[in-house]
Amino acid sequence: MTVSSDLNMLAEALGPRVRRDEPLASHTCLRVGGPADLLIVCESAGEVVGAVELAQRHGIDWRVLGGGCNVLVADSGVRGLVIVNRAARVEFDGPVARAETGALLAALAGEAVRRGLAGLEWAAGLPGTVGGAVVGNAGAFEGDIAAILHSATVLEPSGEAVARSNEWFEFEYRLSRIKRGGGYVVLAATFELEPQDSESLAARADEILEWRRTRHPAGATVGSTFKNPPDSHAGYLIEQAGLRGYRVGGAQISELHGNFFMNTGGATAADVWALIQHARATVGQQFGMQLELEIELLGEGPWRQKSA
Ligand SMILES: Cc1cc2nc3c(=O)[nH]c(=O)nc-3n(C[C@H](O)[C@H](O)[C@H](O)COP(=O)(O)OP(=O)(O)OC[C@H]3O[C@@H](n4cnc5c(N)ncnc54)[C@H](O)[C@@H]3O)c2cc1C
Repeated sequence: MTVSSDLNMLAEALGPRVRRDEPLASHTCLRVGGPADLLIVCESAGEVVGAVELAQRHGIDWRVLGGGCNVLVADSGVRGLVIVNRAARVEFDGPVARAETGALLAALAGEAVRRGLAGLEWAAGLPGTVGGAVVGNAGAFEGDIAAILHSATVLEPSGEAVARSNEWFEFEYRLSRIKRGGGYVVLAATFELEPQDSESLAARADEILEWRRTRHPAGATVGSTFKNPPDSHAGYLIEQAGLRGYRVGGAQISELHGNFFMNTGGATAADVWALIQHARATVGQQFGMQLELEIELLGEGPWRQKSA
């Protein structure tokens, strides 16, 4: 049987909500990326599990996407099925918050602050979903997911949903066991927060929002492109290398923040990749430091020709 007939059978099994050749640019913060063969938006964890099961049964590659805020998608797109996770049920039980992973992290942080629960203020204004944040161990202002995640429900490659503790994730700086690969899906996450005065928490969250508003450029971006090297900042190194505002096609290094790579309109993944390569080479030559990507590269882009 051919891949395209397997795809057709999967599309039929997924039903009328499945989209064919859906441009992934519409599902990423950078607004870059070619089509997914098939894409389905899931509104509950049960729907996510069902979509994964069907893709596996038909032998089709699949990937879960949250807000698409930490990925660069190839111009040729992504083969197989993309499952956009919008399962967003959130429950609080005293200081414990449990969220389906399609919930927006910033919205969860806002709710925690309103309830007078400390631990998530650093996530005020941070784009993307709880799932993407767990996978990438998102963090800012001395806080991160690793510090507050109690446990999570993980769909294993076997199809079983298993409760996993914080330690299972092997969190490191912007890294988890799931980001390393293996075909896991985080379905729900439980956070342990701490009761505190909600007014001072709200003031701290406002400060953080203001910091983001003034220090981060507005527009289509993937946020920090590179991880910060030990004892340094990728943005600082890129700026010191004279690359503020450097442009390739429609892609540009922000004038405001050297680690923010922007789509100024019409940028392709190839443009962004060329900018990444140039920044790496220039920083490498000038400072002898090898910048490591924080973002993930999806699909068959020019990065396949050379190791990313
Ligand atoms: C303006 C801006 C500012 C930012 N500031 C910060 C910051 O301060 N700190 C920070 O850490 N990051 C920051 N980021 C990056 C981004 O917001 C985070 O990495 C965020 O957690 C990504 O979430 P997402 O839902 O968009 O993930 P996506 O980009 O959708 O996915 C990222 C990876 O996780 C996988 N994935 C997503 N959901 C699941 C799931 N449920 N199960 C299994 N795999 C899954 C995807 O397949 C992909 O491999 C910023 C980005 C922008 C655009």
